[in-house]
Formats: sequence, C-alpha cells, structure tokens
Amino acid sequence: MKMSKLFVQTLREFPNDAEAISHKLLVRAGFIKKLANGIYTYMPLAQRVLNKISNIIREEMNASGAQELLMPFVQPAEVWQKSGRWAKYGKELLRCKDRHDNEMCLAPTHEEVVTSVVSDVAKSYKQLPLNVYQIQTKFRDEIRPRFGLLRGREFIMKDAYSFHTSQEDLEREYKVMAQTYTSIFNRCGLETKAVQSDSGAIGGAVSHEYMVLTDTAVGENDVFYCDSCDYSANSNHAISILPIQETNGADYGYNEEKTVDTPNVKTIEDLSKFLKINENCILKAVAYIADSKPAIAMIRGDKEIEETKLMNALNAIEIRPMEESEIKEYLNSEAGFISYRSVDKSKVKVIFDNTVKGMKNFVLGANERDKHIVGANLEEDIKEFHDISVVKVGEFCPVCKKPLKITRGIEVGNIFQLGTKYSEPMNAVYTDENGELKPYIMGCYGIGVSRTMAAAIEKYHDDFGIIWPIEIAPYHVIVIPVDTKDPVQAEKADEIYNKLNELGIETVIDDRSDRAGVKFKDADLIGFPIRITVGRTISEGLVEFKLRKEGEVKKLTPEEAIEECQKILLN
Ligand code: ATP
Ligand code: MG
Repeated sequence: MKMSKLFVQTLREFPNDAEAISHKLLVRAGFIKKLANGIYTYMPLAQRVLNKISNIIREEMNASGAQELLMPFVQPAEVWQKSGRWAKYGKELLRCKDRHDNEMCLAPTHEEVVTSVVSDVAKSYKQLPLNVYQIQTKFRDEIRPRFGLLRGREFIMKDAYSFHTSQEDLEREYKVMAQTYTSIFNRCGLETKAVQSDSGAIGGAVSHEYMVLTDTAVGENDVFYCDSCDYSANSNHAISILPIQETNGADYGYNEEKTVDTPNVKTIEDLSKFLKINENCILKAVAYIADSKPAIAMIRGDKEIEETKLMNALNAIEIRPMEESEIKEYLNSEAGFISYRSVDKSKVKVIFDNTVKGMKNFVLGANERDKHIVGANLEEDIKEFHDISVVKVGEFCPVCKKPLKITRGIEVGNIFQLGTKYSEPMNAVYTDENGELKPYIMGCYGIGVSRTMAAAIEKYHDDFGIIWPIEIAPYHVIVIPVDTKDPVQAEKADEIYNKLNELGIETVIDDRSDRAGVKFKDADLIGFPIRITVGRTISEGLVEFKLRKEGEVKKLTPEEAIEECQKILLN
C-alpha cells in the first residue's frame, strides 16, 4: 500500500470530545470517524485490525469445534416476547416499527434468535452438543456511550452459544471456551485475567469476565484479586472475609433498647462521633426505588451497598436511590433516620445484608428527625439475609484469607453458563434417548471485537502514538524514503517495499513528498511495528531499522533489514 493512496487522515491535534487515550489515538491516527454519539465508521486501518482480531477468533473457535453462522441484526418483537425479555430489557434495546406496524428491534445480543434456530433444527439428542458463533454488529442504546470504541452504541461482537443435554457437558464446554478465550487474547498480544462475575441481564449462574487490567478510569470494572491464590472477581460478585465479623453495642454501654436524641446528625460518620461508637455498631438503611417500587437495604454502618447485588436480591431490572421527597412519601421518614421497623412491609421491600446477621445491641434510626434507637436487636422472625455489600480493600480473600487487592479492568470477553434460562420460557426442546422432550442446557460466550482493538491501544501506546502488538497491527512495516525526489533513495525504498510484500509481509511505503519529520510522526502515530528508513546513508549501502516499541535505531543493509523483518514476523 502506498501512503499517498491509503484512505486515511491523521490529525495534528487530539479530538476535544475524547477522554480515553484509545479514543483520542483512534481518531487522531485516522482509524475511526464519528457519525453520531457512540456510532463510528471503521476506516481501512481499523478494518484491517478488526479483521485480524476476527480471524484469530475464527481460527481458535473453529479449532475448538464451534461453527460460524450469521444471524439477523433486525429482529421481530415476537422472539423477544417469547423469552420474556421484550418487557424486561430496558432502554438499551432500540425498538422500532416496520412499514406494517410490526414491532422490531436492533439486536443487542442473540440468545433469542439462536435458541429459536437451534430448536428448529437440532431436535434430537444425537445432534448435540452444538456450539455456534457469529461475528457481527450489535446495537445497545447505552445510557452513557463513552471512551470511543470501549463503550459504543454500535459495536462488533463475537457471540457464541452452546447447547447441551446435561449440566456436566455444559461445564466441559465452558472449560473449553475458557481455554479458547485465553488463547485468543494471548494471540492478540493482550494479557487478560478471567474473573468471576455477575451474570446480569443475560442471566444464569456461573460466569467469568476476561479483563484487561488497567489503573486508569477507562477500566469501568473494579476487580478484587488475591496474590496468594488465584481468586479474582468483579466487585459486583466479589466476596470477602471481614476483619471484624461481629460487633456489640453493649461494649459501648448500649445493652438496653431506648430512643436517644441525635440532633443534626445525618451521616454514619456524624452518628458514630456523636454516640462515640464504632461505625460497625450502626445499622444503616439505604432507600431505593426498584422498578418504581420502594425498597430499603439494611447494612452494617461501615459497609457500602453493591447495587448489582442489591438488584439481584430484589429481582429488579433497574434501581436508583430514593430522593428526599420519596423518602417522605414512601417511608414517612427522613434521610439519616430511616428504620426498617416502621415501614409497611407489604409495600416496601426490606433486604438485609449478611453483615447484619452478627450485629448485637446496635444503633438504628428511630424514623423520627434527630432520634435514633440504641441497644437494638433484630427481631427473631428476620431470617433472610443476602450478600448486597461491596468488598473493601483491607478485607480478606474468601479462599485463602490473605488481604485482597483492587485494580480496574476493561471487560473484553465474557462466558456464561446459562442453563435453561432461555430454552425453558421459549419452549426450546430436544428429544432425549428415552423419547422425552427436554429443554436445552445452554452456555453463551461473547467477545467485544471493537472493544478489544481499543483495549489493546489502552495497553500499548506512548506519547507519540499507538504501539500495535504485531499480531493485530494494521500493517507490519512502513518503508520511508526520506527524500522522494532523490532517485537512489526512491528506487531503493521501492525495492525493499516490493521485496517485503512478495514475502507476504504487509508493508506500506510512505511515498508522499512531505518532510521526513511529518512521515516519522505519522508512522509513530499509526503505530507500524517496524520502520525502515531509506535516507542519505543509502550511499554507503545502509538503511535505518527501528522497532516501534523499542525506539532504538539500527543501521543495516537492505538485505539484513528484510531478514530482520522475516525473523520478527514470520517465525
Ligand atoms: P458491559 O458490562 O461492559 O456493559 P456487558 O457485560 O453488558 O458489557 P456482554 O453482554 O457480556 O456485555 O457482551 C459481550 C462483550 O461485548 C463484552 O464482554 C464486551 O467486550 C462487549 N461489549 C458490550 N457492550 C459493549 C459496548 N457498549 N461497546 C463495545 N463493546 C461492548
Ligand atoms: Mg459482560
């Protein structure tokens, strides 16, 4: 490819609407063009990277026995109504009507369609197990599209779905997919960590997310992990052993229940200072609206609510904290003084965190302004507790009891054991050995293809631009004649360019008449792994050879430079 012909426009400045470095670099280096919020054109350079990632995925998925298909992107409401998700999937599902007034949607994921296709075709246990996948555009009307390709509205996903006759067989395939994912990301030059996670809207019991770890804000997930064993989990799923398991208000002289004045005390911190007690002696109430109904979450004072866990415990699709006026309306109370005791439990759902179980003689809101109850104990009929708290640094690994650490992660892939979550409501069944109809036991496995491209840039860049891992670089080598008007330089550069292409090495020649400085800047910005510069030293038979990731320049003969490329690229 000649640089003069390459359909690319690099920019001098970063775009001013970008926060994430991958977003800034993808735009500035001419990989993507924005059409609308969260919707981008992948320019030829980006498309080459996406193709490389997709091909790695294909090779690995095919090698694991999965088969590629391609399902419709525009889908009728019926199939979503069958699974029950038409009502449950929130605003991320972009709905529209066709000319006949039929309700349709743009696919955010394909469980429904694949389940209906497979149940039409694989009617016998003899056709199972089965794993089918596709690489395709998805649309999710994300509430906050941001960070460029990391959280787009339209994005590319590889999604695979497997169908089994037993849980054991699903677990076998789950392990195969886990290994396949590790190979895929390794081949993309990306180190990932498989962490336990919540299964969210897709559902099911067991799931792992493949995280590219980062310490920047673009890692939208908090990941807790243990250095001593291999425990790691998304904060929406992480559990821990607490440093102090139980607390007793009696230690502070509160061994009898009574109401005390707590003037102007609003926060847990205020209250603990005012009463001179530890925060973990306070039973905190946090009020929510869950799917437009009131709920309160009760948790030990020093702990915070993990909202995904709470959402699961409430079996809700959407939750948000209550506003002051709603606290008055639904709980007849005021923030800071809420009590679970005085609410009408037929109207307000109350969820207790596991940390509340061991609390004795605690402090609790009196449901009255400026008043709290001390020396309180849970009523005996409260027997149901849930894990709705977020792990804190300083708590201990649930497996080996060593301190947990925290980092951030970009979720590039996700594997789930779905079980019969879709097959049952959709009545997707096969006939087993005994002629009985059984619902398929399913798994599903996603990879964000466009997100993986962006995550690689988050990991591999410097002040000058992108540093592509060789396996997914748009091109391998750029050959730069310093002075295109010098016939010797131009001719030698052409010769090297042609030779490399003949060898199957993907090479660009920067044949533009721009200054060398401009060409070097673009080469670094776009991130070609290898740069060969043909300048004045060609009169001594030497060219400059530079690896993008190292920066050190070597003087080599053209033949040696070509050999070096082969060694690096074709090993
Ligand atoms: P997230 O929690 O980041 O919103 P998700 O868990 O909803 O993602 P899945 O349904 O598991 O996403 O989709 C499979 C993969 O698709 C994810 O692991 C991620 O890599 C990618 N993906 C999901 N949403 C987006 C998006 N808005 N933009 C780009 N890639 C995405
Ligand atoms: Mg996910």
